[in-house]
Amino acid sequence: MSHPLRIGLTGGIGSGKSTVAAQLVARGAVLVDTDAISRALTAVGGAALPAIAAAFGPQAIGADGALDRDHMRQQVFADPAMRQRLEAILHPMIGAETMRQAEDAGERPIVFDVPLLTESAHWRERVHKVLVVDCREATQVARVMRRSGWAEETVQRVVAQQATRAARRAIADAVIFNEGLTLEQLDTQVQRLWQAWGADRVKQ
Ligand code: ADP
Repeated sequence: MSHPLRIGLTGGIGSGKSTVAAQLVARGAVLVDTDAISRALTAVGGAALPAIAAAFGPQAIGADGALDRDHMRQQVFADPAMRQRLEAILHPMIGAETMRQAEDAGERPIVFDVPLLTESAHWRERVHKVLVVDCREATQVARVMRRSGWAEETVQRVVAQQATRAARRAIADAVIFNEGLTLEQLDTQVQRLWQAWGADRVKQ
């Protein structure tokens, strides 16, 4: 069995994590997006829905047949036990699908996009390098307002719920400070890491 380089990529909302992920993919990395996997598990026909409906009742599923995200958000926001229950259903399923996708990568470097990497020792143990994309909070807020059209306080609430910048940086093998950089300059930093970590020497 081969052991390709496994990079764990994380960053707060609006840090530029997805942008960096795309720049790594452009160099030949295989992206395993845990958020996308989680969404697929809870979309219409998603494999997690029966277990969620059994645990939380039929109200957990919306009229369209997908997870009622607003309903569930309200449930888990107020009650940590509920959150744990939901995570106990989702996390093993996300883990299994993640590993399945990773096996398809062959020798190519794998980038695991994990928003909650900082909070998850489980994840950190499964990657060789942790790459954190960081920027000032004000920049995060401005970017997400522009990208998603959210209200400032909505973005701020999400930022406040996430790991702190310091906590993220503390688990990093490398930090890309995505502040005042053009996309090209950001790409140059990605290229430097790609080389430093030997990912450029992998046969595609
Ligand atoms: P995240 O995945 O961390 O939430 P994104 O990669 O989606 O963040 O970036 C948020 C927004 O900011 C996107 O619209 C992206 O194009 C933009 N952005 C990120 N970094 C830069 C940069 N260095 N220069 C210009 N725009 C950027």
